[in-house]
Amino acid sequence: MGPGIKAKCRQCGKEAAADSFKLHYKYRMMVCPDCFSGKTEKQREEKLKAEVQPVHPAGWDKEDEYLEKASRMKVKEVPQYKRIPGSDLVQMSCKNCNYTFKYDSSKQSPRTCPYCDCEVPKVNLYNSF
Ligand SMILES: [Zn+2]
Ligand SMILES: [Zn+2]
Repeated sequence: MGPGIKAKCRQCGKEAAADSFKLHYKYRMMVCPDCFSGKTEKQREEKLKAEVQPVHPAGWDKEDEYLEKASRMKVKEVPQYKRIPGSDLVQMSCKNCNYTFKYDSSKQSPRTCPYCDCEVPKVNLYNSF
């Protein structure tokens, strides 16, 4: 190998002067000066980042998933009731004993189920409708 002879770097595929190749401890192969200095690795990481980011917006997916889960859980926790038209009363059925009773949403009463005395979740018609 004399001066001016080019060799192809097996790491980055670029050609560089053959006598500038060095054995890289990590790649365990002869690499060009760019690869040896870590320049190509850095460029590749930046390229990867640029490619990956638009597909997965930072934190957006996870948060969205979380919110969706939370709202689904909320829906599950909503007590079973039907609004009685023209009044603040709702037809509530106790989730503990399934007893059906009238619940006054403006007074938020009764606070407990008349049948089993278990706590009735507060109903705010103006928030939940
Ligand atoms: Zn290289
Ligand atoms: Zn009950």
